[in-house]
Amino acid sequence: MTISVAIIGSGPAGCYTADALLKSDVDVQIDVIDRLPTPFGLIRAGVAPDHQTTKKIQKKFGTTLADPSVRYFGNVDVGRDISLAELRDMYDAVVLAVGAPYDHKLGISGEDKTGVYGSASFVGWYNAHPDLRDLNPALDTKAVAVIGVGNVAIDVARVLVKDEAEMADSDLPAYAAKAIQNSPITDVYIIGRRGPIEAKFTNVELREMGKLEHCVSLVDADQLPDDVGDVDLSDRDKRLKERNLNTLKEFANSKPNDKPKRVHFVFYASPVEILGGDKVEGLKLERTKIEEGRAVGTGEFFEIDCGLVIPAIGYRATPVEGAPFDERRCVVPNDDGRVDDRLYAVGWIKRGPTGVIATNRPDGEIAAKHILEDVQSGEKPGRSALKKLLAKKSIQVVDIAGWQKIEKIENESAKPQAPRLKFETVDDMLAAVNGS
Ligand SMILES: Cc1cc2nc3c(=O)[nH]c(=O)nc-3n(C[C@H](O)[C@H](O)[C@H](O)COP(=O)(O)OP(=O)(O)OC[C@H]3O[C@@H](n4cnc5c(N)ncnc54)[C@H](O)[C@@H]3O)c2cc1C
Repeated sequence: MTISVAIIGSGPAGCYTADALLKSDVDVQIDVIDRLPTPFGLIRAGVAPDHQTTKKIQKKFGTTLADPSVRYFGNVDVGRDISLAELRDMYDAVVLAVGAPYDHKLGISGEDKTGVYGSASFVGWYNAHPDLRDLNPALDTKAVAVIGVGNVAIDVARVLVKDEAEMADSDLPAYAAKAIQNSPITDVYIIGRRGPIEAKFTNVELREMGKLEHCVSLVDADQLPDDVGDVDLSDRDKRLKERNLNTLKEFANSKPNDKPKRVHFVFYASPVEILGGDKVEGLKLERTKIEEGRAVGTGEFFEIDCGLVIPAIGYRATPVEGAPFDERRCVVPNDDGRVDDRLYAVGWIKRGPTGVIATNRPDGEIAAKHILEDVQSGEKPGRSALKKLLAKKSIQVVDIAGWQKIEKIENESAKPQAPRLKFETVDDMLAAVNGS
């Protein structure tokens, strides 16, 4: 009998899992459930709006979701509309692919002031995630501190300093474009506790910061070593570090006043306090030095005047009711993707928030392999039971045809160079699906 699999989450990890199951020659019925009407997780709501080439993988995943063996159940929140226990009763196997959508806290004083927004919230805001559309960040400041030295920090800085023309071929929503273009921001500080060699930027993203129309990237030459030194890395990773160092050396030669805006890379600086009254007025930092690979404080402090602080220090998951949770690592504990009897985890909820979209592909392949090893033949009703329960609860499910309607309207409403004009609220998405 057909094996029924429910995948909770339609981000890369969920879609790669569906893909891997489809490639097997076993008869499987796959239902992909997402809390939002729109699929694809952080591809839609995390990847920067001006990096449309990266978002093109949505097309491939759209084909996966439209496969005759797959059904998309959008606008169904597991936890609110249906429980994990109910799904496990209905399906032969259930896969958790819910990601890690929340911010880690900095854990310093002043973090509750107006003007502090974690990157998960801020990125969700400028990507029109319906939960964050109303964040309304206080952008009435000349200077911004972005804490963290990975690609997300660079994305945030870049989106804040590009002008309207540079964002014309993006899907930045109009409310975010207006707020950013009307803001007086001229200086963005990207701050890392450790040094340039330890920074996690990829070189393509870092180099892009040297090619902005109205913004120069700057770094203090004294913070750059002559070479990457004797690092314990693969040749490939060492080459990446060398390329990053060379790019930063170019930035060290930039002139601050060549262009009206500046991104400052600040290394060896650990935030200790967010300053101000109710609203952010500055950031106090302690100079650090590296000892045995760790950043340690030197006792020397300095301040950056800024009205906005965006910690980009990593994402975290929260527990899924009915599944175990490792509070320290913020993941569902698993043995190579196996969580419990016929319950599996893939992607960021399995491994934590690291890697690129393609890093989730092996997770999907491994989960599919385990499922087909553990479940020899289907015993549970799967889709028919899910449909019945959702109908009983009057949940408006957005299926693949519904998503395609949303996508068509978004594409057709876009300005000439832009790929789409995103819907901003779930109500508007549902109205579009209903044809109203
Ligand atoms: C800001 C940012 C920028 C990035 N940029 C790039 C990039 O340029 N290139 C690149 O390769 N990688 C990029 N990445 C990494 C990439 O996005 C991740 O590797 C990937 O999205 C993780 O996949 P996932 O499926 O585990 O989680 P997610 O993509 O977060 O997907 C999880 C899905 O689960 C759904 N969900 C959550 N809870 C529930 C629930 N209770 N019920 C039903 N559904 C639920 C969510 O709505 C979501 O659709 C970026 C990440 C971030 C944060």
